[in-house]
Amino acid sequence: MSKFRSAMVKGKKARLESVKTTSTRKRSKTSMKEEDSPEDLSSYHTFPDPADVLQLRSQLLSWYDKEKRELPWRTLATTESDLNIRTYGVWVSEIMLQQTQVATVIDYYNRWMKRWPTVQQLAAATLEEVNQMWAGLGYYSRGRRLHEGAQKVVSELKGEMPRTVDNLLKYLPGVGRYTAAAVGSIALGQVTGAVDGNVIRVLCRLRAIGADSTSTAVTEALWNLANLLVDPIRPGDFNQAMMELGARVCTPKGPLCSQCPIQSHCRSYQKVNVKQEQTSKKLLGKLNAKTSVLPDIEECLNSGACQLCPSEPWNNELGVQNFPRKPAKKAPRVERTLTCILTRIGEQGDEEHLLIQRPNKGLLAGLWEFPSVLLSEEKSDVKQKKALCDDISTLLGTLLTESRLHYVGEVVHIFSHIHQTYVVYSASLKEGDTKEQAENTQWLTRSALQEAAVSTGLKKIVKLFDSVESLKGISSQDVKKRSHPGAKSEKKLQTSRKARMAAANGGGKQLSLSSFFKTMKEECG
Ligand code: SF4
Ligand code: ZN
Repeated sequence: MSKFRSAMVKGKKARLESVKTTSTRKRSKTSMKEEDSPEDLSSYHTFPDPADVLQLRSQLLSWYDKEKRELPWRTLATTESDLNIRTYGVWVSEIMLQQTQVATVIDYYNRWMKRWPTVQQLAAATLEEVNQMWAGLGYYSRGRRLHEGAQKVVSELKGEMPRTVDNLLKYLPGVGRYTAAAVGSIALGQVTGAVDGNVIRVLCRLRAIGADSTSTAVTEALWNLANLLVDPIRPGDFNQAMMELGARVCTPKGPLCSQCPIQSHCRSYQKVNVKQEQTSKKLLGKLNAKTSVLPDIEECLNSGACQLCPSEPWNNELGVQNFPRKPAKKAPRVERTLTCILTRIGEQGDEEHLLIQRPNKGLLAGLWEFPSVLLSEEKSDVKQKKALCDDISTLLGTLLTESRLHYVGEVVHIFSHIHQTYVVYSASLKEGDTKEQAENTQWLTRSALQEAAVSTGLKKIVKLFDSVESLKGISSQDVKKRSHPGAKSEKKLQTSRKARMAAANGGGKQLSLSSFFKTMKEECG
């Protein structure tokens, strides 16, 4: 154990005293709940024996010490002696890890911490720089909230990061119950459990909790369990170990139960094994009914009235994956957006494109996009194209008519709750077309566009535009080369262009707007 690490453990032991109030309060809440709620009368979904809790902690932490992945924020949490930097660094990692895979986050995290190693430096950055750094990571409001939080820490807390779970919750925008608990335990040694998606899965399987995992009863039961299990000496490591186990062993599909360090505590694993044994004994019983003794499955004593037991019947094929249960996902909203890549030749002779900044709130807040109009089923294609041209004309103080728009293709981009299709047009502006430039707009060269705070959806639009433009180039060269193009070769050229256009559009066929909505209605209806 490194000097610093052992000092930290000692420090954490000492700090236990100072955070005792928080954890005691949590525990007493738990025990009150246990007395009050009928579902907790069954010990089936909890850990009634303290010896089991001690054993589980030790098994899990030994596994974690051997198996954990070295990740930059983990290194920082164990080697950084400055509490402010440690809390800031763990906070950044937790926000980045919300809804984004570890492998993707690593590079973003390293670049972020290199550029803004302290909360003060982040507070001094502009939102534009933050958005730029965040580009491609998705869920853009996260970056904005980090920036907002850093400014709050500097202006309201004299640059000192909050030191308790309650204050993390109170002062940092975008920090909810889980993130506060994770940062509090990992960076500050606060003794609190932390329940994220991975931990939900592990706990539900461990204690056979099969009711809707988003219900209040299950959520509270899981937090109580996490608070009961968390190791008081190494709370941060314990929470990370639970998450690591969920990410690498107790995975959503195909969990590796045979490699699980806490398998002996797992009720769903026991249930699967006993069921298998019962099935094989039943088969044997057919041959020798007298000698067949069926093993018992430990069950919840409260199952009829229990808010934690599965509401759906056990499915043998799913095994431990019977837990957890989630309500069916809502279908994403279907949207279509008309967008236009406007090109002009800039003063330096380079091609430039017009971009508009999105509002500072809502989806893709503060990012730059091409002029766009959200399509409506009620309006005709012609009217909507006109609306886009009118918008652009107002922005530039010029008159752009629909005849100047060229159809490029369609790009599909899936957000968590929106299935977005961009219908892409392009238009080239002539000298004198741009009389004015509205606020929140900018002309960017292609290289500046690569660096700008833009969404992945916009990058896909640019890719489609480039592929269609290069095809245009190829076909015009081909036509020039052939002084006497035969009807056959010309047809071949058109066919291959069509095929490549289709490929650039993801192979889908192009529909008119009204027929698209009709198709969607039919699919949904
Ligand atoms: Fe998950 Fe299997 Fe371990 Fe149970 S035994 S906690 S289901 S990996
Ligand atoms: Zn139950």
